Amino acid sequence: MSRGVATQLWTHPACLLHDTGPGHAERPERLSAVLEALQGAFPSLSLHDAPRASRGQLLRVHDASLLATVLETKSPDRVQLDPDTILSPASAEAALRAAGAGIAATDAVLHGHARRAFCAVRPPGHHATIDVAMGFCLFNNIAVAAAHARDHGGLERIAIVDFDVHHGNGTQAIFETDPRVLYLSSHQMPLYPDTGRRDEHGAGNILNAPLPPGAGGDAFRATWSRDLLPALDTFRPQIVFISAGFDAHWRDPLAQLQLQAGDYAWLTQALVDIAQRHADGRVVSMLEGGYDLQALREASVAHVAALSGLAPAG
Ligand SMILES: [Zn+2]
Repeated sequence: MSRGVATQLWTHPACLLHDTGPGHAERPERLSAVLEALQGAFPSLSLHDAPRASRGQLLRVHDASLLATVLETKSPDRVQLDPDTILSPASAEAALRAAGAGIAATDAVLHGHARRAFCAVRPPGHHATIDVAMGFCLFNNIAVAAAHARDHGGLERIAIVDFDVHHGNGTQAIFETDPRVLYLSSHQMPLYPDTGRRDEHGAGNILNAPLPPGAGGDAFRATWSRDLLPALDTFRPQIVFISAGFDAHWRDPLAQLQLQAGDYAWLTQALVDIAQRHADGRVVSMLEGGYDLQALREASVAHVAALSGLAPAG
C-alpha cells in the first residue's frame, strides 16, 4: 500500500464554537463530521492547530471596515450580518483561526514541510468580498491564503479551483483585476449568489462553468475536462488552491446537483496531476460548504484520499 505524500490536516477547536444558532445549515456538526471521518480514514495524517491570521495578512484582501465588523463587534448575543450570516461572541476567534489555517498550510507547502494540506475549518470563506461578510462567510479564507502565496511567497501564477455548488463571488471579486491569480469555478446556476455567468472573465483570469439544477457527475466531469482543466494546465500554476465545498453532492439539502463521492475523487486527482506537472505537487485545499453530514463524510474522505495518495482505512 502507498504511504502517500506528506499531507497535513489543519483545524482549530475554536472553529467549532462559531455559533450560528438553532436550525442554521452552517453548524458545528459539519466540521465534527469531517474531522471524525478524516481521522478515522487516515490515522497517519498529521493534525495541526491553526494559528490566528494576522491583521496584515487579512488586509491583503479585505478592507479595514470588514475587520472591524468581524473583530470588534461586541455583543453578548448573536448578531445577524445578513439573513444568512451570523456573528456570535466566539466567531471572531473562529474566523481568525479559519483564515490562519490557510496561511499556515500555504507556508507548510511553500517551505517544503508538506506537499499537500487540507484545512478543515469554519466559517467558510468564498462568498466574503473585500468589504462584505455574506453567505455564511466572514473572512475569505482561500483568498487570504492565495494572497499570502503571492505577496509573501512571491509566486506569480496562483490558481484557485472552486467546486463548491455555489459560485465564489467573493474570491472572484477580490482577484478579478489580478492576472497572477486564476480563478476557476463550477457551480449550479441559478442559485445563490447569482453570479458566475460564463461571460464573467475579469482580467482574463476568471473562468466560470455554470451547471443547471439536476446535473450530475457526467456533466460535471465533462465541463471540467473540456472548459476548465485545459485552462489550468495552460496557466502552469505554481500552487493550486481548492475551495472544497461538498454541497454539489446529491444528498445536499441546499442545492440540486447530483455528484457522488467518486466525482470529487476524480476532480481532485486531476488537480493533483496538474500540480505535479507544474507546481511541485503543491496543493492547499480548504473546506467551504456542504450541509449533509453523510455527504460531508464521504466526499471529504474521497477528496483527501486523492490529495494524499492514501487509501482510506476500514
Ligand atoms: Zn456552497
